[in-house]
Amino acid sequence: MMRNLFNRVFQLMTGKSQRHQFVASNPNTTIPSGNSRQSWFELDRLHLPVVLIKPNGTTHSAVPRVTETSPNYHFELERLDPPLAPPNAQQAEEPRLSFCCNICGGSNTNIALNLVTDREASSCIHCGSSLRMRSVIQALTSEIYGQSLSLPSAPANRSIRGAGMSDWKGYAKPLSKLFDYQNTFYHQKPRLDILNVAESEFGQYDFLISSDVMEHVPTDIDKAFANMARMLKPGGFLVLTVPYKPDGEHEEFYPDLHEYRFINTGGKTFLYNRTKNGTEQIYDNLVFHGGDGFTLFMRMFSEASLIGMLESSGFDGGIKIYRENDPEHGVVWPISWCLAIVARKAGKTD
Ligand SMILES: [Zn+2]
Repeated sequence: MMRNLFNRVFQLMTGKSQRHQFVASNPNTTIPSGNSRQSWFELDRLHLPVVLIKPNGTTHSAVPRVTETSPNYHFELERLDPPLAPPNAQQAEEPRLSFCCNICGGSNTNIALNLVTDREASSCIHCGSSLRMRSVIQALTSEIYGQSLSLPSAPANRSIRGAGMSDWKGYAKPLSKLFDYQNTFYHQKPRLDILNVAESEFGQYDFLISSDVMEHVPTDIDKAFANMARMLKPGGFLVLTVPYKPDGEHEEFYPDLHEYRFINTGGKTFLYNRTKNGTEQIYDNLVFHGGDGFTLFMRMFSEASLIGMLESSGFDGGIKIYRENDPEHGVVWPISWCLAIVARKAGKTD
């Protein structure tokens, strides 16, 4: 089983142990709007952000940690700077959670809650699903069945047509058995280029799934959202996840991309771009996510900018952020952002 990413990071750290606890609701603790992308993504694929906290005017990075599980889940921000020593025996009694994975239906007993609540860590011992994957299925089944269900217990309905955008195969396969569902890809068949969608695809789908894809679309993010709305039937919906921050402005990291390519030199990758008006640009410090194809991290949404973009792109039937935990299915969020979002198109499904 994959270890908690945070614990792995701690084990790499040396130096004296020093622990500082800050309650997230403490008025002295603020999550500033101007987080640089490095502070969110410096730990490789770590989408669960390291937030900045400001006790007594100094800025430190911190991670959310579980401190209580009953009756409610309670998280505190744990300061990383100065670094923490590896967990010792006294800290070994960390909170644990038993849950039924809503993707494979497998039962998981006494899994460390800090692993279950890590957005990207593999925490189902059976299928390897992460919190993000289970959140997608929580949102999808809640919208279709009116309640959160595990895929093995959900009744099949082949009249429901859906499509995924580079969906995780762990849920793409069960979805293709339940529904008239097809996964699509940018670099292989069945292909879908969300910036160039054939008109025959418009109005065809009851649901679309796009999980951590839209932060990688190179240009015209508004057009990508608008095309997804066009692909939906009236009353259809999109299940969306992207990394986004709780407040602040939308950030496009490469706003003038036009003719661009990657240059590898000296073991580093640079992005070379010629803008529409002929200006040459070179970017370093590129942030890539794992996976095939084009995975350059292009932008950081904020909650408000994301909702605004969805509303102005044709999702006129309501937008819901899935904030409720679903611990029976291993969905417990330590943060109030980067959650699953459902964006619906107005109208009635037939
Ligand atoms: Zn599973």
